[in-house]
Amino acid sequence: MQNLEQFQALLSTPKRVVITTHHKPDADALGSSLGLAGYLKQYNHQVTVITPTDYPTFLNWMEGNNEVVVFTNTGMETKAAELVADADIIFCLDFSSLDRINQLGELVRASSAKKVLIDHHRNPEDFAQFVEWDVEAAATAQLIYRLLCAMGDREKITPAIADCLYAGIMTDTGSFRHSNTSKEVHLVVAELIDLGANVNRVSQLIYDNGSLDRLRFMGYALSERLEVLPQYSTAYIAISAEDLMRFQIKTGDTEGLVNYALSIEGVCFAALITEREDGVKLSLRSVGDFSVSDLASKHFNGGGHKNAAGGRSDKSFTETLAYFESLLPQYQSLLDTTNQLQNAHV
Ligand code: 5GP
Ligand code: MN
Repeated sequence: MQNLEQFQALLSTPKRVVITTHHKPDADALGSSLGLAGYLKQYNHQVTVITPTDYPTFLNWMEGNNEVVVFTNTGMETKAAELVADADIIFCLDFSSLDRINQLGELVRASSAKKVLIDHHRNPEDFAQFVEWDVEAAATAQLIYRLLCAMGDREKITPAIADCLYAGIMTDTGSFRHSNTSKEVHLVVAELIDLGANVNRVSQLIYDNGSLDRLRFMGYALSERLEVLPQYSTAYIAISAEDLMRFQIKTGDTEGLVNYALSIEGVCFAALITEREDGVKLSLRSVGDFSVSDLASKHFNGGGHKNAAGGRSDKSFTETLAYFESLLPQYQSLLDTTNQLQNAHV
């Protein structure tokens, strides 16, 4: 952070703090938020984490989860709006533009609070007075760790905070497998373990805590809904609203599914296209230099990272599938090159 001294001065007396994060928070979004909240509370700041929507139940173990204000929960909108309007400082974690937090975005923009952006997504919007942004960072949790250390507060990271931050780094690196798994990631994680993160417990709570319905749904999606287009080195899984209903799919149940499509030999680009209540959602993954963030921002009002991005479509589900397929020919040569480079590495 460039103006770290000013930031520290701001935090030197107790403040009303709101921490918010993106739509459908994942482990990095919620872990960073609750980790930071746990830290700030030690300095007697009055801290509330507000999420724009609900999030998967496999994140409920995080310390502070019970106090999270979920904007879309009944009766919470007014409370959240008041907290945002009255805040002295608003932290925006793990998203780079205010449209990622739905109606909360305009409330945050209108608040006179000082804004702090801590994030690792591409194309950050210029709305914050304090910024800890690094597109090279694997996770926002890594940036929280970096910031706390820069403020000389490594020792304030309790085992519960370390668990939250570890969860964010573990999931955003795909369990230390994605191309964002740097030396710094391993060094930070080693420090978090030193500070009390329980690696085995966190991974069980996140990965081994699903319902039977979810597992059966995964099997169904892979056997019935996976389309492979070898000529484009592409695979996609299309899930209709009816599919979601049939398996009683809840928030978070589809997480990880898109990676199976990417695991097929020769596939460089994978998509999960889901017919949700609020429109069609796309979850995109790639390998090498093929940027799904560019593709998402160009065609699906979205963005994210080079190899992991998301977006949405206002077309119908079937129209979206046709549109998605119709885009592939223009990416043919990029996909061919990516595929060749991947093979060259084998
Ligand atoms: P996922 O596919 O797991 O939902 O998201 C992959 C990455 O893309 C995450 O870093 C997520 O924050 C980002 N992302 C997902 N959906 C959107 C979207 O609609 N807009 C933008 N800008 N980013 C998204
Ligand atoms: Mn993240």
